[in-house]
Amino acid sequence: MKKRNISFESLCIHDISDDKNKSHQLPIYATSSFEFDTLKEGIDVFTGEKEGYLYSRYSNPTINAVENKIACLEGYDLDVEPFGIMTSSGMAAISTLCFALCSSGDSIITQEDLYGGTTQYFEKVMAKYGINIIYTDLNDNDTLYKIIEKTPKTKLIYIETPSNPTLTCIDLRALSKIAQHHKIQTIVDNTFCTPYIQRPLSMGIDYVIHSTTKFINGHGNGISGIIVGKDKVSYEEISRAMKLIGTNSNAHDAWFVNNGIKTLSLRMNQHSSNAMELATYLDAHPKVEIVNYLGLSSHNSHQLAKQQMSHFGGMLSFAIRGNIHDASTFVDKLSFCTIAPTLGDVDTLIVHPASMSHMNIPKEIRERNGIPDTLLRASVGIENIDDIIYDINQALS
Ligand SMILES: *Cc1c(COP(=O)(O)O)cnc(C)c1O
Repeated sequence: MKKRNISFESLCIHDISDDKNKSHQLPIYATSSFEFDTLKEGIDVFTGEKEGYLYSRYSNPTINAVENKIACLEGYDLDVEPFGIMTSSGMAAISTLCFALCSSGDSIITQEDLYGGTTQYFEKVMAKYGINIIYTDLNDNDTLYKIIEKTPKTKLIYIETPSNPTLTCIDLRALSKIAQHHKIQTIVDNTFCTPYIQRPLSMGIDYVIHSTTKFINGHGNGISGIIVGKDKVSYEEISRAMKLIGTNSNAHDAWFVNNGIKTLSLRMNQHSSNAMELATYLDAHPKVEIVNYLGLSSHNSHQLAKQQMSHFGGMLSFAIRGNIHDASTFVDKLSFCTIAPTLGDVDTLIVHPASMSHMNIPKEIRERNGIPDTLLRASVGIENIDDIIYDINQALS
């Protein structure tokens, strides 16, 4: 059902629905199961002889429409049509995909600065099943080659670009070339970018996962995730894992995601232009020591971001001069921006990584990864930029 002839922005807006009642908007199928007219029909649907829905843990028309939509967006510039499998959360997408692809004894190569939940899943869950996790700098090709040579059972390279909260980018084209050469599969967590800004499948990556809780939903009213891939053979295996582990999404959260996608391009444009203005303001402020924003030419990944992303996105981080107490005073003085441990919503959200998202990581490792006690992360919203800057300015003074 791919609509190749229309632009990305229009594809976001138009629903791909075959509702027989011709509902203009995507209907919410609030049902756990689907009925059959005859036992024969039931058997045919169960065996796959006939197309149809059975039970909403397996599949549901609302969820199905949204997974197809996101798959079309991630595969917008591909010849093949990818598949999408929605999950109950971003973590469910990551864990379902890794469980489906890995066996005990396999290794996963990844980076140190991952989303905290992902690192903990690797360390506290995957490690128990005999899956070996190797952390390295994924932009350092020489070291990567050496690790791959020493580790014959490398199954996956797991990537997050740009990373949280310093926004370091990984060169996806270079990495996918190395991985393909060694027959290693690649996964990109594309949560920070959305397919409007970055499309890893078009750069040779095998799978994309999202916390659709964030920018794709955009309004902070549900928890959900998605796995997108282009290999139909692996679809069966991953979809089976989703059904049997029970990490399915639900029609209500899927519907919220669908509603959010309609304004994805408008929102990402505004997130990006507001973030650029805020970064420029912070960069010139005497009380600000460091600004990490991909749109600033001073950022280490600025050039790479220009090559593989269409915009610089809505995420930035900055370190204020002083100590941890100055950082907490700043946060407490904010009155317009919200202190909340999520990102990608339409309003501006601030976190203090050292005491929130990265509190379990020892100070020494945090500092090595560019997260001093005085660092703050902003998910810049789409409000009027003057209100955002006014609030940050008063909190800084
Ligand atoms: C939030 C987030 C996740 C986890 O997603 P949930 O929907 O909270 O399970 C994974 N990766 C990134 C980059 C995130 O920001």
